Amino acid sequence: MRKKIIGAAALMLTAMLLAATAVAACPSEEAHRYGSWRTKTSATCTRQGHQFRYCRNCDHWQQRYTPKLPHTPGEMTVTKEPTCTETGRKEGICTACGGTVRKTIDKLPHEYGDMVVVQEPTCTQNGRGEYTCATCGRVKSETIPKLGHDWGKCVVTKAPTCAADGAGTQTCARCAKTQTVKIDRLTHVFGEWTVRQEPEGRKKGVREHTCTLCGAVKSEHFYAEDTLYEDMEPCEEVIALQERLKDLGYYNGSIRSGTFGSMTTTAVARFQRDHGLEDTGLADAATRQAVDDAWEKATGKRVAVTLDAEEMESAAEAQAMEE
Ligand SMILES: [Zn+2]
Ligand SMILES: [Zn+2]
Ligand SMILES: [Zn+2]
Ligand SMILES: [Zn+2]
Ligand SMILES: [Zn+2]
Repeated sequence: MRKKIIGAAALMLTAMLLAATAVAACPSEEAHRYGSWRTKTSATCTRQGHQFRYCRNCDHWQQRYTPKLPHTPGEMTVTKEPTCTETGRKEGICTACGGTVRKTIDKLPHEYGDMVVVQEPTCTQNGRGEYTCATCGRVKSETIPKLGHDWGKCVVTKAPTCAADGAGTQTCARCAKTQTVKIDRLTHVFGEWTVRQEPEGRKKGVREHTCTLCGAVKSEHFYAEDTLYEDMEPCEEVIALQERLKDLGYYNGSIRSGTFGSMTTTAVARFQRDHGLEDTGLADAATRQAVDDAWEKATGKRVAVTLDAEEMESAAEAQAMEE
């Protein structure tokens, strides 16, 4: 009686697998050590296969069924042509079992013609188009994207000035909707400088220029064009000046950056004192010429002359004439 209950429990545990005799040698289901599956009956297209495997340690065994094989039809004959609304069918004879094999043929795609516009798109609303299948009459709908406004030229309603933004109006060529647009303020257009006071020695001059659009006047302090001075924008000319002053023993600072600092001012002033010039510390045209002359004399080299674009052009012309 008890043995029967244990047997029933084992059957439940193995589920689909059939437990056979339960001669206790392996202590649990997990303990069995099965060999490989052996085929008793091979599967065909009409029959499942049947396989067994045996425990190496006890006389427990398992069985399983393997699925039927697919039929192997030869040439198939279409018995119903597919359309765009219905599937088709085809049949063949299985070369293994001689049975009839039936297969479905996929539906054909619809044969849509050109799109017909049902609703024209506007500037702000999508339109709609339709396609119709020539075979079955099925209708397929498609969205035509909205066009967006076609803004024309801007008509100025308020002219911009140097001080304030202006405004304009644009009109859509299609739907006549209007919109207001901002016109950026103008930038001053200054005329030529007028010198109010010439620079003199260490003292900067004063000059001013006037905006030709709004009449605004802007003035600034300035040194002459060819003067190099402390805290000016770093440049090549400062580097050349510092190199020469260094060769002449007046300057001992850094050269690479082209920055005119207090050390350069001191060096220029010392050079000026030694050469009978006013010791302003500014490298004006006369001072720069004196530095070049002193450097040429001391080194026996010539100062390389750098020409601006206009000078280069006339020099090239002169050379061409000679040839
Ligand atoms: Zn076993
Ligand atoms: Zn078959
Ligand atoms: Zn169709
Ligand atoms: Zn529009
Ligand atoms: Zn202005």
